[in-house]
Amino acid sequence: MPRTHLICEVTHEAIQDQDCLACARGWELKTDLLGVRRHCDLNYPMIQALTARSSGRERAGISITMLTHECLRQSWWQHTRPYGCRPKQLIASLHGTAVHAMFEGHQEEGALAESRLRWVLPSGRIITGQYDRHKTYNEDLHRIEDYKTKNKLFQKPPLSYVAQLNGYRYMFVHGATDIETGEQVQRPVNELMLFCITHTDALAVPCPIWPDERTLEYFETALDVFDLAREGIDPPPGKDAGTDTFCASFCPFQQECLAMGGTRWHPSDDVC
Ligand code: SF4
Repeated sequence: MPRTHLICEVTHEAIQDQDCLACARGWELKTDLLGVRRHCDLNYPMIQALTARSSGRERAGISITMLTHECLRQSWWQHTRPYGCRPKQLIASLHGTAVHAMFEGHQEEGALAESRLRWVLPSGRIITGQYDRHKTYNEDLHRIEDYKTKNKLFQKPPLSYVAQLNGYRYMFVHGATDIETGEQVQRPVNELMLFCITHTDALAVPCPIWPDERTLEYFETALDVFDLAREGIDPPPGKDAGTDTFCASFCPFQQECLAMGGTRWHPSDDVC
């Protein structure tokens, strides 16, 4: 389910997008939690860009990105519950979207980029995945490449990215359907590469290739969690909601999550 509203940066109250935009248009002052009258740090074009809906996800269903999220609880709740977030919480994804759009517009011949594929797992469950790029450089190098915008370069790929790229690899190697064109896509893949990008630098970080069995087990295990959620058993938290900065900075469900408690868990715990 897409985000349904915003949380005002100043008052911390729920607000509709159009009311937030109207406030920014007039640089209105609101009363913050300390009783100070002020506007937030964002003007009209910033709010407009941050709240623009990204298209293309309407037919995504359960996606590889959802299943490889560091917290399946947040991922599932974002898929099924109405939620709001502060405009500043949308800045990171705006950066990521802008970088992807810039690179997507400059593909050379022979490269495939950014289409969404549909994959039927052996269990019959269906998921989708939108890879960034596939390129056959020569007869020995067939690579999936993915861009990650970050504050700091990373040297070692986080497990969630490794799982994500191995999901794309499985789709390419075993065949999947392009959901726009209906075409069957099948290509060899013998290398996975993450391009970590900051404001000033970039680093190409190779990703390990998992055996097919491990990839399948990872995704089937995560899908089991979502099936249980459909039956009313909420997914376990993937982080420690009371101390993790990701929860405090980016999760719209932190308070509900804290209230539910629970033991931290991730599919990778069961797939070694
Ligand atoms: S607060 Fe943290 S652990 Fe809880 S749902 Fe959000 S991201 Fe997951």
